[in-house]
Amino acid sequence: MDLNFTQEEQAFRTEVRDWLAANLPKDLATITRNDAPLSKKDMLRWQLILHDKGWLTYDWPTEFGGTGWDVVKQFIFEDEMARACAPRLLPFGLKMLAPVLMKFGSKAQQDHYLPRMCDGTDWWCQGYSEPGAGSDLASLKTAAVRDGDHYIVNGQKTWTTLGQHADWIFCLVRTSTEGKRQEGISFLLIDMKTPGIDVRPIRTIDGGHEVNEVFFSDVKVPAENLVGEENKGWTYAKYLLTHERTNIAGVGKSNQELNRLKSLARNQKRGGKPLAEDPLFAARMARVEIALMNMEVTNMRVLADVAGGGAPGSESSMLKILGTEIEQELTDLTRRALGRSAQALTPEVDEPGYNGPHVTPDGFQHAAEVYFNHRKTTIYGGSNEIQKNIITKMITGL
Ligand SMILES: Cc1cc2nc3c(=O)[nH]c(=O)nc-3n(C[C@H](O)[C@H](O)[C@H](O)COP(=O)(O)OP(=O)(O)OC[C@H]3O[C@@H](n4cnc5c(N)ncnc54)[C@H](O)[C@@H]3O)c2cc1C
Repeated sequence: MDLNFTQEEQAFRTEVRDWLAANLPKDLATITRNDAPLSKKDMLRWQLILHDKGWLTYDWPTEFGGTGWDVVKQFIFEDEMARACAPRLLPFGLKMLAPVLMKFGSKAQQDHYLPRMCDGTDWWCQGYSEPGAGSDLASLKTAAVRDGDHYIVNGQKTWTTLGQHADWIFCLVRTSTEGKRQEGISFLLIDMKTPGIDVRPIRTIDGGHEVNEVFFSDVKVPAENLVGEENKGWTYAKYLLTHERTNIAGVGKSNQELNRLKSLARNQKRGGKPLAEDPLFAARMARVEIALMNMEVTNMRVLADVAGGGAPGSESSMLKILGTEIEQELTDLTRRALGRSAQALTPEVDEPGYNGPHVTPDGFQHAAEVYFNHRKTTIYGGSNEIQKNIITKMITGL
């Protein structure tokens, strides 16, 4: 196992960095750096720039139009994107549904859906969770009953991220109530414009509208929208979740947040001295930096294993726990460094022509929202308590 980058990999890093410096629109980098909300238009604008370059599907195999980069190059690319403050790519289509379609979808589904998720025609959302079926996902109740060449879907999904913008939703639905609960679940692709679908917003603690409830009443879905075999959806769902969790580690983003925090702590004063010299604050910053360095090495170790033919198992759960705990600590320290000014929720500072007072240091106007918003990270993608159960089961074989 060699954890150093080769000369070729370092040259690749320079190529990516130079390209980002020349092609990442400055306004998008500023929005991302300041943690301000990105509109759907902004997200799609960046997606199309990457698509034109051929780098949008950087983690797809070449047979589906991907770059064919190995995992180390993918890691370098993601790291440079985060360092340059490029907008985060929406994972639901490109990183979650795409691998499922490539492995389990029909040729017709691959040919139809994969190009459309790249050129921005289809915005996807994820319909897994339901009230009463979050951690215990197998207890989901949304029913799909076969009626000739259609399914009739009834039920409710919840926590559907950015579902208000979505053209399509990939859903886990119950197609059988017999036998083991896991064996009666199917994976269905549903057009959000179908009559009978009602999307209702959920307001979150940061004041934003990111998640939704989605209600289905007698929604008619063509049977050809079933992925793989009926009642085998649990297998596809689990495959998708491994991709979702590895994705969540976010080393590059946390490195960038740590650098921002360090410069903030150098400039903020407590008792006439820079906050960075406060022993208690400095100790917490050191602790999170060490945790981040450890996670980066762990991530590299997992990548080296994968490059050597291994598959990530409980490591993806481990990275999910570490990554989200680090993110939460960084947002907490940033909020604390700002002191009272972090409480000032002034959304109007983002509006063009705003001339009023700036009570928070430049670039940190959204620190309070970001802090509150990040309380979600240890819950979504499978809560950290559940990840600990998974790791324990894998290690002890229980
Ligand atoms: C901001 C946000 C965005 C989300 N986006 C989506 C999305 O786009 N699509 C989607 O389908 N879902 C989404 N989710 C749902 C997410 O996957 C679930 O919230 C998560 O799986 C937890 O389920 P739950 O909320 O029902 O909590 P519960 O399962 O009710 O758990 C409550 C608490 O009990 C703990 N717990 C439960 N069972 C156990 C156990 N056996 N052992 C130890 N502890 C346990 C949990 O860890 C948690 O702390 C999102 C959630 C959030 C918060």
